[in-house]
Amino acid sequence: MYGSTWVVTREKAERIREELIKRGGIEENPKNIYEIWRIRLGNSTFIYYTSNKLYSTPSNEISEIWELIDLIIKSENSNFKNYLLGFDETGKGEPFGPLVLAGVMIPKEILKNISLEFSSSDTKKKHKYEYWEKLLFYLNSIENLKYKIDLIMPREIDRFNINMLMDLAYEKLLSILIHNVSLKDLRIVIDNYGISNTLYRYLEAIKEKGAEIITISDSEDRFIEAKLASFIAKAHREKFLKKISEIYRIEEEIIKGNLSDIYVRDRFLQYKNQDFWFVRRSFGEKKIKEKPSFINMIDEEGRVLCFFCGRVSYQAILDNHKFKCLYCGKEIKDLELALKYKYGVIRIEDKRVIEMILDILKHKNILDGFNFILPEDSLQAFLPFRDMGRILIETKNSYPKYIELNLQGDSIVFSLIRNV
Ligand SMILES: [Zn+2]
Repeated sequence: MYGSTWVVTREKAERIREELIKRGGIEENPKNIYEIWRIRLGNSTFIYYTSNKLYSTPSNEISEIWELIDLIIKSENSNFKNYLLGFDETGKGEPFGPLVLAGVMIPKEILKNISLEFSSSDTKKKHKYEYWEKLLFYLNSIENLKYKIDLIMPREIDRFNINMLMDLAYEKLLSILIHNVSLKDLRIVIDNYGISNTLYRYLEAIKEKGAEIITISDSEDRFIEAKLASFIAKAHREKFLKKISEIYRIEEEIIKGNLSDIYVRDRFLQYKNQDFWFVRRSFGEKKIKEKPSFINMIDEEGRVLCFFCGRVSYQAILDNHKFKCLYCGKEIKDLELALKYKYGVIRIEDKRVIEMILDILKHKNILDGFNFILPEDSLQAFLPFRDMGRILIETKNSYPKYIELNLQGDSIVFSLIRNV
C-alpha cells in the first residue's frame, strides 16, 4: 500500500483542509517547523508542508478523499459545485425483478454527514438483507438528501432495447431532480452503461447551461454521488427481490439468479414459460429489440398525439384496460409506456378511482412501474404492490409533471399536468 503526494498551492490547500474537516478530519499539532497543518481522517494522516507538498499516509479506506483532492487540484476555479447529483442502476443483467435506477442529490454542506465508513464501503460486495435495510434507514434520516428511484419492468425489456429504455428513464429522473436547481451549481455523474444520442443531447443542453457532466464507467468507485446512487438502487432491489421470493415462494438463490448454475437455469426456464411480471423472459436470447418509439406518442408540449385522427390532447381515456383517443375513440396501443416514460407519476384523490386502479393492478400490468401519489388513508392497499417493486408510492406531490386521474362514466380520464 502506498501513500499519496500532491503539490498544492496555499489557497487550494486551505480548501482541502476545509473538506477534510467537513468529512470528520481531526486537526493535530504539526510535528515540526516544516509542517503547516496535519489532519487525521479515517486511518490516514494528511500533512501539508511549507514546501507546498501535501502527503497522505497509506490507507485503503480513503480513495474517495484522494479523488476529491485530485478534483480540487485540477479545478480551475477553486469552487467546488454546490450540488452533487449521481445516477446508477442495478439489475441490468439479471433474469428476475425490475431494473432499478436511482438518482441522488447531495448538497455540498451535507457531505460531511455521510459517514466515512459508508463512503469507503464497497458497492460490489454482497451484503445481508439487514444491511440494506439499515442503509436505507440511515439515508432517509439525512436531512436534505434527496433521491428518486425508477423502475424498468421485465416485460418492457423483453420488447425494447434496454439501453434506450435507460436513456428515457434517466432523462425523466434527471428532469425531476434538477427541477428548481440552478444548473451552474451542479455536478452530474452518470455511470456510462452505453448512453445513446437522445440522452447525450439532453445532457449537452444541461451542460450548456452551466452544469458539469461526467459520464464514465465504474463511476461508483470514484464519485461519492454515484456510489450513493448505486447503494440506493441496490437496497431497493434487494427489498423487492426478497418480497417476490416470499410471495411467489421462490428460493432466494433462484431469484438472485446466477444462470451459470445449472439448477438455477433450470428453474428460470420453468418460470420463463409462465407469464410472471417479474421474469425477464427474453433473458439470454439474442433477439433484436424494438426501439422505444412509443415515446413519439407524446409531443414536445407533452400532449398525446393520436395517429388515427391526428389530433393532440392533454387527456386520454382508459376504458376497459385500453387507452383511447379523447376525440376519435380509437385505441392507442402502448400509450401507457409513453405516459410512464414521459410523466411517470400518477396522482389520484378520488376514492372510486383509487378502487378502480387497485383492481387494474390486481389483474393487469398496464400501470406497472408508475409512481402513485395517494392520500395517506389509501396507502395500505397499495403497499403489497410497492413492496415487491411493481409500483412506487408517495404521499406528497413535488413533481413538475404528473398525471391526474378522474372518473367520467365508467372510464378513467388521464389528464396530463405540467407545472412549468
Ligand atoms: Zn384520435
